[in-house]
Amino acid sequence: MDVRLQISMVFHLDKCIGCHTCSIACKNVWTDRKGAEYMWWNNVETKPGTGYPTAWEDQEKYKGGWERKNGQPELKMGGRVLRVLNVFHNPYMPKLDDYYEPWTYKYEDLFNAPEGADQPTARPISMVTGQPMNIEAGPNWDDDLSGSPIYAANDPNFAALTDKQRQELFEIERLVFFYLPRICNHCLNAGCVAACPSGAIYKRGEDGIVLINQEVCRGWRMCVTACPYKKTFYNWSTGKSEKCILCFPRLETGQAPACFHSCVGRIRYLGGLLYDADKILDAMNVPDDQLVEAQRDLILDPFDPEVREAALRNGIDDATLEAARRSPVYKYVKEWKLALPLHPEFRTLPMLFYVPPLLPVMANTDDGTYDTANAELFSPIEKARLPMQYLAKLFSGGNLEPVRYALKKQYAVRLFKRLDTVGDMDKVVVKHALNEVKMNEAEAEAVYRLTSLPTMDERFVIPPSHREEAMQMLSDDFLMDRGEAGMGFRDRPARGA
Ligand code: SF4
Ligand code: SF4
Repeated sequence: MDVRLQISMVFHLDKCIGCHTCSIACKNVWTDRKGAEYMWWNNVETKPGTGYPTAWEDQEKYKGGWERKNGQPELKMGGRVLRVLNVFHNPYMPKLDDYYEPWTYKYEDLFNAPEGADQPTARPISMVTGQPMNIEAGPNWDDDLSGSPIYAANDPNFAALTDKQRQELFEIERLVFFYLPRICNHCLNAGCVAACPSGAIYKRGEDGIVLINQEVCRGWRMCVTACPYKKTFYNWSTGKSEKCILCFPRLETGQAPACFHSCVGRIRYLGGLLYDADKILDAMNVPDDQLVEAQRDLILDPFDPEVREAALRNGIDDATLEAARRSPVYKYVKEWKLALPLHPEFRTLPMLFYVPPLLPVMANTDDGTYDTANAELFSPIEKARLPMQYLAKLFSGGNLEPVRYALKKQYAVRLFKRLDTVGDMDKVVVKHALNEVKMNEAEAEAVYRLTSLPTMDERFVIPPSHREEAMQMLSDDFLMDRGEAGMGFRDRPARGA
């Protein structure tokens, strides 16, 4: 057992109100400068939709992530030889139009306009050319289904639905959407790290945060292709790649990242997960529909004395283990099985997990009226307006079971709390609902509390930072590590080593 620590995240999608406060917090802190205008390290997408950059989930187009070849995982963009051949022309890169042409407004027109009968306007000008432009796209252009036939209809996840299901979704009274906020997943098996020819991208040994060394980056942009989530960006002004740094200067001082801290819906949770690095290859080398379980198997129980022993041997200290035991991410992902990885079939082992949304999925209509009747216990989930296949394509490699379980469990918690607060439920029905998902009342109460009433300290359990012990960073030979995914410490870190 080779125990490592990973700072991990959960986003509870039922609570996201699509306000974009997170994106703006990040934009103002990190990407409000030359060359970074088009970058949204945090963005919020409307689903169904094509996202940012357009159709980023379509790996036939972008060749991101890993695939199984002859029983072994390989980068989808090809091996080293192919990457060298594509060095000067990489055909699988998103172009500016796939992101959008960034713009600002000519605000001085508002002040300098001569007196007149008409209202002065500030015209949009391109931040790339400085010329007036017509705005034709933006980072969430398909917000709230605007332009559905152009955007939502082209969502790559619709491949999992039948033609009839797809058609039904676009009937006006059946339209359905939810929000999907996205940041870098700080993956365990990061494609961006493995693809970088310069060894500029690395995974911090002590907490698993994935960073780009700006001194070493040579702007090859292999990371942009290799990241299936399109969360590395090329800065045209500096000639270097950039990405979400999980606000590590904030984390090191015990503060949550800016997007987490500012989140209006309080959908975001952050905490440490212990995992077994020996199992990484096995976890990414299973068929698509088993990936969620394999990834969960990687995660270790921080209460297990054997895990504690092995963690201490690897240089993880007691205070960090204590934080791992209180981690809300551990509860959502491993204990309660409520949170799932986004597109596990990309095989980067993403460390950001999502609780799939129960609403508006439940709001199905049978004959024009909302069908919230409960003849069979879980009928609103089984007859959901958004087919469960769609959520399975997003969060479980096509396997319906983990999604169904997560939705049923959330539903059971609602019934349980309704009995408690309104009192109009049949006790037997509630008991049956809890039994169906093997949940007792104490757990239902705990899920309710952490979902609805968490304090700041419960949402963000940040393990203490130990930069003084991160000696591997100084002794590492980055040239030797090229083409590796970077799994953190290989030797026990020691002060003064
Ligand atoms: S591959 Fe994973 S770690 Fe690398 S940029 Fe993409 S999401 Fe982040
Ligand atoms: S701030 Fe929170 S609630 Fe608002 S869009 Fe971002 S993740 Fe959703």
